[in-house]
Amino acid sequence: MSTVEADVDVGGAPAAAGERTELELTDARMARVGEFEVRRLLPLRRRRTVGPWCFVDHYGPRSVDGGPGMRVPPHPHMGLQTVTWLFEGDVLHRDSLGSEQMIKPGQLNLMTAGRGIAHSEQSPAKHGPRIHGVQLWVAMPDVARDGHPAFEHHAALPVDVAGAVRVCVFMGSLRGVASPATTFSRMVGADIAVRSDAATVLEMDPAFEHAVFAAGRAQVEDVVLEPGHLLRLATGREALTVVAEPGARLILLGGVPLAEPVLMWWNFVARTPEEIASATSDWNQRERFGEVDASGGARMAAPDVDLARLRLRAGG
Ligand code: MN
Repeated sequence: MSTVEADVDVGGAPAAAGERTELELTDARMARVGEFEVRRLLPLRRRRTVGPWCFVDHYGPRSVDGGPGMRVPPHPHMGLQTVTWLFEGDVLHRDSLGSEQMIKPGQLNLMTAGRGIAHSEQSPAKHGPRIHGVQLWVAMPDVARDGHPAFEHHAALPVDVAGAVRVCVFMGSLRGVASPATTFSRMVGADIAVRSDAATVLEMDPAFEHAVFAAGRAQVEDVVLEPGHLLRLATGREALTVVAEPGARLILLGGVPLAEPVLMWWNFVARTPEEIASATSDWNQRERFGEVDASGGARMAAPDVDLARLRLRAGG
């Protein structure tokens, strides 16, 4: 998916210098992506990233019965991977490499932007009555972010049963179970489906920082999570306790904290304001990012870059 806001990096209050807490609960802010209202859980000014994860939108469940459904027209990305994961419904992805891929629940669409790619995402003409999912971005490290763009679809992903939960690992690895998806740093992205109301303790990698959010209602450690809550867990944690009603779903994200500060603007992840300005100009002049099949809709125009604002942020 995409953001239509120019400055995506505006949520919440910044953390005080040196502030560090074990468990940190934050509220989403509501944002719009086309006709869709989404819960934007990252970035927050307080914590812009969790491991390499730099953008988290959770949308639905909502009815798309009798309507067009999702309509996200062609837009560019740079310096990140987009991770598309559905709980319900179906979405058709088209990109400037010529990929055209339907995604359904339990499958992964992973688009590696590298130096630049464009894509569109739409509900197919004949689509299910409801849609519910997440759109996630992973910031790419310096060693990989100038590389060629790529797209991959994984129709089946490894599943591990642990106590009362069934864990599907879509990015990175958890408890020795590894996703086949391409990654550029150590991380985890997993969908946790609760099967009974017993408590389950999941082993965690203490080198990772983590975030967890619930598609319904769940309890993680002693914190009750509702949709729109994000619970961040600092590094050094070796276990996570999950309790929820059967049928509850949670998303667990984590990874080694990013070594490089990232600068986010619109649909770009970079390091300097000049890189953002150059990408914006290239997109508006139809260079670098390629073209998406016209059935994906009319391409989005990039918003004007606020260089002064970005320079302040890059410096601080
Ligand atoms: Mn997108």
